[in-house]
Amino acid sequence: MSAATFNPFEMAQRQFDGVAKQLGLDQATCDLLRNPDREVHFNIPVRMDDGTYRVFRGFRCLHSDARGPAKGGIRFHPNETIDTIRALSMWMTWKTACVDIPLGGAKGGVICDPRELSLREQELICRGWIRQVWRLVGPVQDVPAPDVMTNGQHMIWMLDEYEKITGMKYPGFITGKPLGVGGSLGRTEATGYGVMYCVREALKALGIDAKNTTAAVQGFGNVSQFAIQKYTQMGGKVVALSCWDNSIKKPVTFIKKSGATYEELIGITDKFGTIDQAKAKALGYEIADGGAWLEQEVDILVPAAKEGELTGETISKIKPTVKIIAEGANGPTTPEADEVIKAKGIFLIPDFLCNAGGVTCSYFEQVQNNMNYYWPKEEVLEKLDAKMTVGFAGVYNMAQENKVYMRDAAYMVAIKRVADAVKLRGLV
Ligand code: GLU
Repeated sequence: MSAATFNPFEMAQRQFDGVAKQLGLDQATCDLLRNPDREVHFNIPVRMDDGTYRVFRGFRCLHSDARGPAKGGIRFHPNETIDTIRALSMWMTWKTACVDIPLGGAKGGVICDPRELSLREQELICRGWIRQVWRLVGPVQDVPAPDVMTNGQHMIWMLDEYEKITGMKYPGFITGKPLGVGGSLGRTEATGYGVMYCVREALKALGIDAKNTTAAVQGFGNVSQFAIQKYTQMGGKVVALSCWDNSIKKPVTFIKKSGATYEELIGITDKFGTIDQAKAKALGYEIADGGAWLEQEVDILVPAAKEGELTGETISKIKPTVKIIAEGANGPTTPEADEVIKAKGIFLIPDFLCNAGGVTCSYFEQVQNNMNYYWPKEEVLEKLDAKMTVGFAGVYNMAQENKVYMRDAAYMVAIKRVADAVKLRGLV
């Protein structure tokens, strides 16, 4: 699967099929779990600021709600495809099962580029999305959240539309809300911190001190920003960061051997996440092409941008120094790249374990919404750390006991839990 032919849903099914066989799942359970339970495609007509009309295409896929209400984010992306959403909905099912939270898996999206839309236009897309799916989603059915290029502001517009239509207050309808309107402290940091709680556990397993390590990170969105913050707090050094530059419409790598920090980088980043190259140079960064992050002599690689980035081709460029790959993004590694990672004996922290901190904290947000009582940040992060650490241990032990690759071990843990739920319900 090269970057050009990369189909995330085919990849998700391929990964599933391999493990289903290993687990000896019966045909009906395989048929049920290798496709989403349902999907909706719809139009969102919007009157643009210049008075013209545009119709955006929206989606919601519910992969499985066998273990509880479905859960998963909504992506805004110009290259969004239904197959990406299908794959991501499936990975959400494995993610919630892997860290053992009582939720299922779903994902949604809209084909649009928020970087080119006004806030008003974005608000109308959010409200239009809800008007199309409000009967199918809800606090005890399917609970959306932020994802690629969506944030707390989008969530609160969606919540407001849902509450206007239903005439009730349902703070647990959606997660990733801003503070003060049902949001949870720690939710913004949760995914990135969760990635690093896993890295900490992996380093422990390998007997390496975080203080002696360096990392290269791809992406500078919500996940990687807080992963960088936590990693530097742990004593590690981020020496390279690859980030999308919206002015030249391609990614750029910022290299600083003495170590980049979240605070320094965020100080020179615009509201769309583009890092100012001139300011970066003035701060001692060297600028290289977008792929250069992968070719650094580092201990840890953190792909935290998007799916399909580590391919059979790009993975060949990594240096022998790399000991850990921590998948902050969903589906960043193709099966071909997996073979190379396996052969090199690199410690992989698979996506739906590694980035499960976001949905875990979303679950805590829902719990707090239901109680209408909110925990201090330390308590949220402590609970998050505990959940991630246990989740990591479950997968690591499975990998050790069965001598399997970490991704396969994560699939084994997750698929087994979902298959058991499906059986207990008597679905197949
Ligand atoms: N979009 C995030 C993910 O892929 C969070 C989902 C959620 O909180 O429901 O895990």
